Amino acid sequence: MKKIAILGSTGSIGTQTLEIVREQKDLQVVAMAAGSNIRLLEEQIREFHPSFVAVWEEEAAKELKENISDMQVKVSCGMEGLIEAATAEQAEILVTAIVGMLGIRPTIAAIRAGKAIALANKETLVTAGHLIMPLAKECNVPILPVDSEHSAIFQSLNGERQNKIAKILLTASGGPFRGRKREELEDIQVEDALKHPNWTMGRKITIDSSTMVNKGLEVIEAKWLFDVEPENIQVVVQPQSVIHSMVEYEDGAVIAQLGTPDMRLPIQYALYYPKRRPLGGDRLDFWKLKSITFEEPDTENFRGLALAYEAIRRGGNVPTVFNAANERAVAKFLNREIKYLQIPEIIEDCMARATFAASPSVEQILETEAAVYDYIESRF
Ligand code: NDP
Repeated sequence: MKKIAILGSTGSIGTQTLEIVREQKDLQVVAMAAGSNIRLLEEQIREFHPSFVAVWEEEAAKELKENISDMQVKVSCGMEGLIEAATAEQAEILVTAIVGMLGIRPTIAAIRAGKAIALANKETLVTAGHLIMPLAKECNVPILPVDSEHSAIFQSLNGERQNKIAKILLTASGGPFRGRKREELEDIQVEDALKHPNWTMGRKITIDSSTMVNKGLEVIEAKWLFDVEPENIQVVVQPQSVIHSMVEYEDGAVIAQLGTPDMRLPIQYALYYPKRRPLGGDRLDFWKLKSITFEEPDTENFRGLALAYEAIRRGGNVPTVFNAANERAVAKFLNREIKYLQIPEIIEDCMARATFAASPSVEQILETEAAVYDYIESRF
């Protein structure tokens, strides 16, 4: 039995991870954490029998504790609870499927405790990659990508570790508004932005995909995961989401991973790496597919990607500013407090005002986040 812990078990990645646990018979969930959905969490506890669970709010933790008082499960809350779930003694691998920078401290704690990391929570690597990657190396802990593009790159690197990467070709669907001009984006409503053409995902990442901020976060994530400079990471729009990403080597050979848009594949690959397991579901049918098309990303009308390249070029805490501003702006857009196009405007504004820290510690990263939040609250 391989023992796993899951942060964000009630979300899109979390529930798909549990589908794999249900399907494969040799995974055991020992710890889970979620935000506020204690109804679903209770169902998950009754099905998967973890010995530890955490929820964010103290009140919710109390309620959950009462609801499962017939079971032997320890319940905790807040950041302490997240860290306890991430470092659960029996766990061998941690799936980081919570959303946002909240993942930084539990991920670091898990690495220090020697857990392998199946990393979905990209915001953690975007803001603290300079701390996390060296720490993982020092602790001899693998960081296994769950993001489909990064899993594709990881798979395309199999057997090639001694060869130099010339370029990473990071594919993008272009999102629901591909081809639109800025003026056509002005009146986008929450419901429009939540309709992704190919993937079903959590709300925040779906908005990020529509603004191309997600692709920007992925460029930064790829830099840290694969130690490739941003100028050697080229975003290629491939609207059918069939090619999940590619690696070009020095001799010009391009190796790609293709598949249907199904997150269970990269999740399962991370959980069993380097082994592959059978997985149900649709297969690519090239006769039906007929063609795969390519475009350049539109960085004029979708500023998110260009701002991410700027953030990683400036380095230090600027990717944190980029990410924190986006997290706050997206939350405000989802709350209908700001308009769609204000998302990139707010990010740009915050980046222009950033107080630079060259190699921020976790505390400085969190201070940067707080300063960005304060600024946004005071202005919007
Ligand atoms: P969801 O919004 O679907 O799920 C987020 C999870 O985090 C939920 O379980 C939620 O709990 C939990 N959570 C939120 N706030 C807290 C908190 N304060 N404390 C503890 N848990 C919390 O997100 P996704 O699954 O879509 O995304 C998760 C991560 O994976 C993101 O970083 C995303 O970028 C990345 N990712 C997602 C992909 C996808 O296909 N969905 C693809 C590639 C990467 P609750 O619901 O109970 O509030």
